Amino acid sequence: MLVTDVRPWGGAPSDIETTDGVITAVTPHDPNRARATGSSSRDGAVDGRGRLALPAFADVHCHLDSTRLGLPFRPHTGAPGIWPMVMNDRAHWRDAERSVAEGATHTLGRMISCGTTRVRSYAQIDADCGLERFEGVLAAKEAHADRADVEIIAFPQAGLLREKGVPQLLDAALSSGAAVVGGIDPCTLDRDPVRHLDILFDLAERHQAPVDVHLHEPGTLGVFSADLILERVRALDMAGRVTLSHAYDLGGVDEATTRRLTEEFAALDISMATVAPAQHHSLPLTGLTAAGVRVGLGQDGQRDYWSPYGNGDMLDRTWQLAFTQRFRADELVEHCLAVATRGGAAILDPELPRLTSVTDRPGLAPGDRADLLLVDGETPTSAVMDRGTDRTVLHDGHVVAEGLTLAD
Ligand SMILES: [Zn+2]
Repeated sequence: MLVTDVRPWGGAPSDIETTDGVITAVTPHDPNRARATGSSSRDGAVDGRGRLALPAFADVHCHLDSTRLGLPFRPHTGAPGIWPMVMNDRAHWRDAERSVAEGATHTLGRMISCGTTRVRSYAQIDADCGLERFEGVLAAKEAHADRADVEIIAFPQAGLLREKGVPQLLDAALSSGAAVVGGIDPCTLDRDPVRHLDILFDLAERHQAPVDVHLHEPGTLGVFSADLILERVRALDMAGRVTLSHAYDLGGVDEATTRRLTEEFAALDISMATVAPAQHHSLPLTGLTAAGVRVGLGQDGQRDYWSPYGNGDMLDRTWQLAFTQRFRADELVEHCLAVATRGGAAILDPELPRLTSVTDRPGLAPGDRADLLLVDGETPTSAVMDRGTDRTVLHDGHVVAEGLTLAD
């Protein structure tokens, strides 16, 4: 495959050659060569038309099992707090106008068409739904197997201990296609953090699976949970295998704690997944990058019973990350793109190097996987502001979407 006349990360017009799904050469754009090769993807070539080339997005925190994208809009009925939200979702999810598999497949398709080719999605597993929602997400993963890589997190949204049989259900999901073990608020939800985390890390050890913990806990309580997690990562030698999702209050305690956690996360290669929330005292993004902590971005729920936000477009969420970080400088807005693309990819594949600094723009060099997003825009920063629709998405060197529509 030859992708002609694109500007990698906003640089000079270039041609990108790919073989077997890997970028093999990036050379200055040669108009003659493009004409000789042909200009449609059927001829083994994509005419970039001077658009930007970026690595495709990696959404490392979404909930494909709860999405209502593509269905009629429903007014929000949830009440604040995790447990009331769980109960609100439980009261409604079965009334959707389609199956979980149909909803997850639709939303995943929309994510791909907007430029995301790597996904880590939760599948809620609890006493109410059993494995039904997990199986729906699994069906979506299979439906789009040629268009995106999807990892499923077996996720005890309603806790591991509050209702009977949840650890056994997680165990079953991990034996039938879930790749990651999920945990949530060990103190505030299950109110027994040691037992919660021991079950979680025991499942991780038995299935050789990475761990992802939703941490919404405030201030010192969140730090307490994080320290219990650090203890287990050390004891079980799980460096590079644990992600903290949200963790939006860990930076709100004091400067020494912020510094200590950042250093320990870097040392044990604990990664962070953010959904760019409005209100937060997260560990500072630029500080995490400087220390070498992997950070990825996700959309969280997408127009579901939890919230009306999220539309499948990670370029929108990249804008939100830049906005909530109060970034204005181009270098920092572009850093948000690096986090949303290669940052997340490096969480899903720990073999990929960490971002080295806020100016690191990886993912488009020979040897990198040919998962690309071509998008109209003068510069990467202007593309984040304008969020154009003239997009072409490649996965493993094949065009999987064009103009926000999935390719055949
Ligand atoms: Zn979430």
